[in-house]
Amino acid sequence: MIDVIIIGAGPIGMACAISAKENGLNYVVIEKGTLVNSLFNYPLNMSFFSTSDRLEIGNIPFISQQPKPTRAEALEYYRRVASSKKLKIKLYEEIISISKLKKGFKLKTIKSDYSTKTIIIATGFYDFPYLLNIPGEKLSKVKHYYSEPHPYFGMDLAIVGSANSAVDAALETYRKGAKSVTMIIREKEIGDNVKYWARPDIINRIKEGSIIAYFESNLKKINTDSILIKSPNKEFSIKNDFVLAMTGYQPNFALVESLGVKFKNDIYKTPVYNLQNMESNIKGVYLAGVVCGGLKTNKWFIENSREHAPKIINNIVSELDKFSQG
Ligand SMILES: Cc1cc2nc3c(=O)[nH]c(=O)nc-3n(C[C@H](O)[C@H](O)[C@H](O)COP(=O)(O)OP(=O)(O)OC[C@H]3O[C@@H](n4cnc5c(N)ncnc54)[C@H](O)[C@@H]3O)c2cc1C
Repeated sequence: MIDVIIIGAGPIGMACAISAKENGLNYVVIEKGTLVNSLFNYPLNMSFFSTSDRLEIGNIPFISQQPKPTRAEALEYYRRVASSKKLKIKLYEEIISISKLKKGFKLKTIKSDYSTKTIIIATGFYDFPYLLNIPGEKLSKVKHYYSEPHPYFGMDLAIVGSANSAVDAALETYRKGAKSVTMIIREKEIGDNVKYWARPDIINRIKEGSIIAYFESNLKKINTDSILIKSPNKEFSIKNDFVLAMTGYQPNFALVESLGVKFKNDIYKTPVYNLQNMESNIKGVYLAGVVCGGLKTNKWFIENSREHAPKIINNIVSELDKFSQG
């Protein structure tokens, strides 16, 4: 029986693996996609808001050209960490089921069966976009992830949302030759949470009319060549080729729920865990990384959740003695 299975090979799952290895635990990381799958799906030209030292795990220095690293540098860094630390990571291995044994847990994946004494859930938040739930959302021109500006060259593009990802996409596509960029924004203005260097840029582009923004507005319907917008005093259609729905993402609660983890009675659906050791209400099931925030996906990020790894592994080490004693 394995000591600990870590679900998710994001930065925090990897930090847990390093800590488990350093403490002599028998561990394995199960990842449904590629290594640091969420980061891999971030926009190609993005830069992190954190400086590289704050994204380091396992005390391995992260050197980047500029203080804030790019996506490519982060992918290179985490690949090097995985290989130099010889981490046991099973990639592209989706979990089919998890069941509780009298002692420990049984995991069935598309490739193998495992039994483990403990589980760490480090599954992040980037797999499930919030849907608009409007007619036309299923059209292939509607995207919930933004990768790069090139496909939007010469196109009429609508962007829903005004958080960092929406603002970055609007500025980049405008500068790389989109025919028109229209932002549809629920709020009255661009929020304070937008990165301090991007906020004045987007506000000025909107003021000068280079990027069109409809505030206090919603997208009502998406057609093949147009969209219907509802603003405070009117509903109107504009020409449209692509819609980027940058409306945020939510964690996959199914896995957490299937293990019997409870949630607080709050608007964020925060899972129940002990902040001292990150153990959930289910003995032997730990939560790590951004998944701990529930729907408040900006509460935990790489910088501030790296510390979950030693907390969890120290607790597992102390509890394993009891496990073997019965
Ligand atoms: C554009 C952008 C910029 C960001 N910049 C920063 C920054 O500068 N600094 C910072 O600290 N944070 C930043 N963040 C946030 C940060 O990336 C996340 O908080 C971080 O990735 C959390 O790490 P994690 O390991 O908890 O989750 P993730 O990185 O999301 O990793 C979770 C992993 O679990 C896998 N997984 C999910 N479900 C399953 C399953 N059922 N079975 C197996 N595997 C599964 C996923 O494929 C993924 O690889 C940024 C986020 C975005 C979107």
